Amino acid sequence: MIFSKELLNKFELIETPFYFYDLGLLKKTLDILNRESVKRKFKVHYALKANSNNKILKTILGYGLGADCVSGNEVELAVKSGFKNTQIVFAGVGKTDIEIKTAINHKIFCFNVESLQEMEVINLIASSIDQTANIALRINPNINANTHHYITTGLEENKFGINASELAQVIDKLNSFKNLKLIGLHFHIGSQITYLNVFKELCIRINELQKWFADHHIHIDHINAGGGLGVNYEKPDENLIPNFKIFFEIFEKFFETVPGQSLHFEIGRAIVAQCGSLISKVLYVKEGVNTNFVILDAGMTELIRPALYQAYHKVENLSSSGQQKKYDVVGPICETSDTFVKSVQLPETKRGDLFVIRSTGAYGEVMSSGYNLRTKVKSYYSDEL
Ligand SMILES: *Cc1c(COP(=O)(O)O)cnc(C)c1O
Repeated sequence: MIFSKELLNKFELIETPFYFYDLGLLKKTLDILNRESVKRKFKVHYALKANSNNKILKTILGYGLGADCVSGNEVELAVKSGFKNTQIVFAGVGKTDIEIKTAINHKIFCFNVESLQEMEVINLIASSIDQTANIALRINPNINANTHHYITTGLEENKFGINASELAQVIDKLNSFKNLKLIGLHFHIGSQITYLNVFKELCIRINELQKWFADHHIHIDHINAGGGLGVNYEKPDENLIPNFKIFFEIFEKFFETVPGQSLHFEIGRAIVAQCGSLISKVLYVKEGVNTNFVILDAGMTELIRPALYQAYHKVENLSSSGQQKKYDVVGPICETSDTFVKSVQLPETKRGDLFVIRSTGAYGEVMSSGYNLRTKVKSYYSDEL
């Protein structure tokens, strides 16, 4: 049981479904992240898209992290929340003119540019307001992240980044873009990566590309290796804090630093996933032909990851300690994919039991929707209950 009896009693009084965030765990995670990154002089930007709730951002801000944004509104929110503009990076294949202008006006650290045409547009907008924009080239390293194909981003068949074969042309063009300054190279190969050898492959690929730039006498100030470190959804209690040490050690060991160059990361999921829980009540228990259905009051509108990426989240009954039975745990939405888990053993369940869906701090609440005219899901924090 992850929650104290006292906390459970409080949960009973709150209207479900809701998200609960353990800020103590978030802080412990950030402590270890900082310990392992600072001593190696690695710079970490928090990927806001994983969870942009005010309290979460404020907590993360307290640890001095930078911000990784993928929209103009995220850039605005990062600035408004107190992230230093000189620590904000902005990625995304489809930045609009307004978003680009917003970010230039905030004088952010760096645009991670994803195509030659985007470079042209940023240069044009920057010159129209008499500014210079710092850019990093997002290079598609053609590495398979061995994760779900919907969250694989570093293969040539994916829409992200500039292919290595285009580099000569891009550099050639860059000389004519007077309002752009090339300061870095950016990579982000996917999310929920648990096969860590992939990051070693990434280091080796970056080293090769660095040689190309050295051969062309182009100095690169920083390398941004992206994010993607996975978390343990199967056994959250045994792995509440991801192994940042092993992750950073791989880069320490295999990434060949060029003198004067800094190494950056953009981490989202690994920071916030485990501190979030989706709390829900059982509406009905229905006997099926081969299985029994537990119908929760939370569904894909509160947590879409199972429906969208066939993602697994551990589901626990917080109210019952009865005999184990086999259930499919589903939501109330009119879609068959609105299923959290199938054929799971749970204690005998009845209407009104409180359930928790674990590890939902990342890409949970931020992806919630109003489909079926559902009420916007609420959130509560450990420091206020
Ligand atoms: C989503 C994203 C991240 C964060 O990925 P995680 O898997 O949550 O660490 C980092 N960089 C870019 C460019 C992203 O799109």
